[in-house]
Amino acid sequence: EQIGRALHAVTHFRGQLREACAGAEPLALVLIDIADFGAVNHRLGADRADAILQEIGGRLAALLPGAGVAARLVGDEFALLLPASDPDAAARRLAAAAAAALDLPLAGVGGTVRLRAAMGLAAFPEDGRAPEALFARAKAALSEVKRAGGGADFLRGAMLARVDARRRAIGCVRDAVQEDRIRVWYQPKLRLADGAPDGHEALVRIFDRAGQVSGPGDWAEALDDPECAALLDAAVLRRVLADLRRAGSGTGTVLGRVAVNVSEHSLRRGDFATHLLRALARAGVAPAQLELEIVETVLVDQRTPELVAGFARLRAAGLRITLDDFGTGFASLSHLRDLPIDGLKIEKSFVLGLQADARNAPILRAIVMLAQALGLHTVAEGVESAEVADLLRELGFEAAQGYHFGRPQPLPEPQPVPQPEPAAAAPCQSVSD
Ligand code: C2E
Ligand code: MG
Ligand code: MG
Repeated sequence: EQIGRALHAVTHFRGQLREACAGAEPLALVLIDIADFGAVNHRLGADRADAILQEIGGRLAALLPGAGVAARLVGDEFALLLPASDPDAAARRLAAAAAAALDLPLAGVGGTVRLRAAMGLAAFPEDGRAPEALFARAKAALSEVKRAGGGADFLRGAMLARVDARRRAIGCVRDAVQEDRIRVWYQPKLRLADGAPDGHEALVRIFDRAGQVSGPGDWAEALDDPECAALLDAAVLRRVLADLRRAGSGTGTVLGRVAVNVSEHSLRRGDFATHLLRALARAGVAPAQLELEIVETVLVDQRTPELVAGFARLRAAGLRITLDDFGTGFASLSHLRDLPIDGLKIEKSFVLGLQADARNAPILRAIVMLAQALGLHTVAEGVESAEVADLLRELGFEAAQGYHFGRPQPLPEPQPVPQPEPAAAAPCQSVSD
């Protein structure tokens, strides 16, 4: 059962945890995940990497007094369990000791390897009475800590609330996709020079099982989850293509070019451009009917050659690509020069604050001049009054969007929504749009 000195296997550990939780004595549980061990593995090869893990396991086991249990769970994950009258303090102490033990140079590996770790802490009984619940809590604490970039913490208070909110948001979106309760509402864009229609932006909405509508603000955490965001984007795109086909065949309103918001998570998945072009062809919708709104972080943080090539192909096919919420992120001027994009959509806070704060106008004027010089089209969103629309026209914006011109709305045709079910699920909140 033992690996090395007093380092146990996962089955033994689970047994010990069960036994300990059956007693009354408080316990400290520490889960340890070595940061970037994949890179070590890659650099040193599997055999030496494994020797390092053995060494680490020995060091961790050596931190525990006789009553403690140390185990290697899987790969580069370890666990420490220790009965202690003050389990919170004991868990923190163990975590600090483990961090120090990992930070010691490892001998005999041909160069110094110093390791860091993320650690999830839990105390019995406070964080869970059943062994599975306690372990799950420590595990969830570990993934939160990993998200935050390292360290050691319990999953409590604000962190627990955050995790719960994320889980709820993700559940809300996943269920909606699965049960076909995703709908797309369209908000008109206008050409400022003459008020002519200039297409629409597609904005996702969810109908809950009771028929209540909610928007992204109610489940923003779901959009941060890579899987969930990609799932949602795909569902939205299917709807938009279906709506465009309907509009194109003369039965619906004229949508013009439809701008869809695409999460960075969707763009990072496989060959986004190929999939999108195929979907357009299957739906019989011309690429020129579609525009992608991308937030600027994509182009700064994830600007891989593949992504840039994909954008270039989409643009060559007639799709338009616009940088959304421009002005809030970190896109530098050189990014604007180098990026394969067609336009800028200015973050609405500049527009909303245009009258209240005189410093917004010069910023907007400069952005417009820059865009014009680079041949990029400009859109302002968040236009709530005629006065602001006039100001934006004077500043040189080409197009605008906002409550003043029209709110996001479903297509006029009835879009059947599922009937309320007796066992109503946790409702998503409603929006006021
Ligand atoms: P966004 O792309 O910047 O969209 C504009 C947001 O401003 C929309 O909020 C819209 O309803 C709202 N808005 C429009 N006109 C006005 C106005 O005059 N005043 C004010 N105060 N607000 C206005 P919404 O629909 O809640 O969407 C929020 C964000 O969620 C969007 O911001 C976009 O980033 C994201 N989103 C929307 N649909 C999708 C989608 O299908 N996929 C992904 N990944 N994200 C989406
Ligand atoms: Mg947008
Ligand atoms: Mg925006």
